[in-house]
Amino acid sequence: MIAMPTTSSTPRAGRYAPSPSGDLHLGNLRTALLAWLFARAGGRRFVLRVDDLDRVRPGAESRQLADLTALGLDWDGPVTHQTDRLDRYDAAVERLTAAGLTYDCYCTRKEIQQAATAPHGPLGAYPGTCRDLTHAERTARRAAGRPAALRLRSTRAEFAITDRLHGRYAGPVDDLVLRRADGIPAYNLTVVVDDAEQGVDQVVRGDDLLPSTPRQAYLATLLDLPVPEYAHVPLVLNADGKRLAKRDGAVTLADRLARGETVEQVVSELADSLGLAGHTAGDLLAGFDPGRLPRAPWVLDPDSLVCAVRNP
Ligand code: GLU
Repeated sequence: MIAMPTTSSTPRAGRYAPSPSGDLHLGNLRTALLAWLFARAGGRRFVLRVDDLDRVRPGAESRQLADLTALGLDWDGPVTHQTDRLDRYDAAVERLTAAGLTYDCYCTRKEIQQAATAPHGPLGAYPGTCRDLTHAERTARRAAGRPAALRLRSTRAEFAITDRLHGRYAGPVDDLVLRRADGIPAYNLTVVVDDAEQGVDQVVRGDDLLPSTPRQAYLATLLDLPVPEYAHVPLVLNADGKRLAKRDGAVTLADRLARGETVEQVVSELADSLGLAGHTAGDLLAGFDPGRLPRAPWVLDPDSLVCAVRNP
């Protein structure tokens, strides 16, 4: 255990943490709405954090915030940005390093992919190539000019978490990257540091992130940080059963407004998909019961709704 600054005086919070890589689509908006409903129904603060260390598209953040506001979501305190918090991530990395829990990794993505197809370890897990390099081997790699990522020297192969919708979920914990070779702190580290420091004790997000969660919870315990409660909510899929994407049609709020729908219609469509009824986020709060949420993905055919709007 490695002591990090405690957050016991910070009130409990839920959060939404978009990546400002483009406009939010209905799947993102539905997850944000759920995160807000979970937090507010539980009397929590709700914080908004922009995960802007990667994939930033100019203008996307302000459009995302405007869409969330239009849906009726509000948040407490200023919006935070990961790019303002690099010292926090460095401090966490230093603590892990001081405890002997990190090592430099010189592998390229291709080398890892090739090694990971070998029949050892869970699929996609780092095979540990650089874990026990000798001093001479490390020096040779450095001399060859290979940039190094920093990895966690994991002491376990698996970690289990509890999820409100999925129950107990155990998943692999490999030597995850803490700092990428380009110097950017890795998502699995930043999310743990940020959630703890912001008093986030409930993480609601899309269930595509469930497989990363055991790694994050394990990292939190190594940093002596509390592990939040998790609720990984079903994604929105297109008519082909694939994850909803911009190319699927009218999937952003702007698209919907442009074809004549109102914000209230969009909120009630999202509500309907969740087994709830109402035209504003506030309407949905009264009847919100996490235990009754649908467990299956919402399959959306954006174009079928054009008819519904044209011929109400
Ligand atoms: N920024 C991440 C994303 O948009 C979400 C991170 C999280 O909720 O933990 O996929």
